[in-house]
Amino acid sequence: MNDTIQTPASEGPVSARPRPSKPNNSSKYAFFEVVQGYLNVAADLVGLPDDIRTMLSQPKQEIIVHFPVRLADGSIHLFKGYRIQHNNILGPYKGGLRYHQGVSLDDLKALASMMTWKCALMGLPLGGAKGGIKFDPRAFSTRELQKITRRFIHALGSNIGPGYDIPAPDMGTNAQTMAWAMDTYMNTVGYLSHESVKGVVTGKPVASGGTHGRGKATGQGVVHCIVRWAEDNKFDLEGSTNIIQGFGNVGSHTAILLSKLGASTIAVGDHTGYRHNPEGFNGHKLCEYVKEHGSIDGYPGGEAITREEFFATEADILVPAALENQIGAEEAASMKVKLVVEGANGPCNPGGEEVLAQRSIDVIPDVLANSGGVTVSYYEWVQNKRCETWTLEEVDRRLQKKMYAAYGDVVDMARRKGCSLRIASYAVALERLAAVYAERQVWP
Ligand code: NAD
Repeated sequence: MNDTIQTPASEGPVSARPRPSKPNNSSKYAFFEVVQGYLNVAADLVGLPDDIRTMLSQPKQEIIVHFPVRLADGSIHLFKGYRIQHNNILGPYKGGLRYHQGVSLDDLKALASMMTWKCALMGLPLGGAKGGIKFDPRAFSTRELQKITRRFIHALGSNIGPGYDIPAPDMGTNAQTMAWAMDTYMNTVGYLSHESVKGVVTGKPVASGGTHGRGKATGQGVVHCIVRWAEDNKFDLEGSTNIIQGFGNVGSHTAILLSKLGASTIAVGDHTGYRHNPEGFNGHKLCEYVKEHGSIDGYPGGEAITREEFFATEADILVPAALENQIGAEEAASMKVKLVVEGANGPCNPGGEEVLAQRSIDVIPDVLANSGGVTVSYYEWVQNKRCETWTLEEVDRRLQKKMYAAYGDVVDMARRKGCSLRIASYAVALERLAAVYAERQVWP
């Protein structure tokens, strides 16, 4: 472990250790810097050897591809796609593909590293990665999205694979995207290998080799965390209220699953705006509406409110399930909730988190709260490997056990070290990664 790690000059010295800092004043949120700040605090806390910290401070590989796609109007558009492979000491790289106009190398580096912590925290034999394409998928037809996805997967080529790097859905992608991705990959490896490469992506539709329970998995994991928090805090979820930002995969399943526990969602928001309904939204109906119309805009229930009014809505729980950097000091100061559960990755910025801590509003951090998705992705991958199909009950049972165990490990670490649940999540993950580095050391 005595090797000195060098990084490209353009990255600056890796020994520079940023602390969690408020985002700088430039318009772009320094997401990767923020996540590295958390890494450094947690690394100090658990006494992580400097060499391991240095290795974990940058991704192992940053792949950027440009690929042309002929659009419906006959024009050719050149797309920019990324795959960031952060770490694979625990197993194959694993992480979602994001389609969003805001996708950037820096954000994907942050998200890829968070996948490493998530998999380590959940005890999965997987590493961390993230990828995506910088474009607005809402501006393209289904046929065009299929072509874009296929060309992207083709451009990534052997940089992904069922034993090497396994993408999954994230923002702007879904089970259909994964079916196209799998089919494209299968067709590039030759027909003799078709069946053996099903696990090249997870989050597929069940009929195409996906697993029962993956669709709701992230929301289910969020709800398991809420249930554990409620038990620890002697809080009755029956009759409680919640507000949810983002009504896509994570937000909608969270709302529906919480309603089964007697908790009502009284405000929701997405990229088109926010709505309030003191009687509580019907999660199923709102979900159907979003599927049909693409957003909550114009939904007949409740009334439109502003973003500011949304964050200031009096409720018990807030679940941000959209983008990073949504809760800053201002939003945090206006909130009237007891608990924030990060369904999204990085929704609280350090300034927001500081205010939440001062106001004694609990935060269940992303690395723990939304790890149900990758956990059930792992179950899908295992089923593909073994040519098995598990029942929904089996998947649910395993997920609950894993989520409760991880929740317990994080709370335990936070109590022992006197730190936040976020830093505790990183600390648990780092201890596990450090143990493997200590055994395997650095090759050669
Ligand atoms: P999605 O594309 O299904 O839904 C995203 C939602 O966010 C949509 O309702 C969209 O309208 C809303 N949104 C987008 N921009 C917004 C804005 N500026 N303001 C308010 N709302 C906005 O995505 P998803 O899969 O639900 O992912 C949401 C978050 O959860 C992301 O941070 C993602 O990384 C994280 N996450 C997803 C999974 C998963 O399994 N899908 C797993 C772990 C973490």
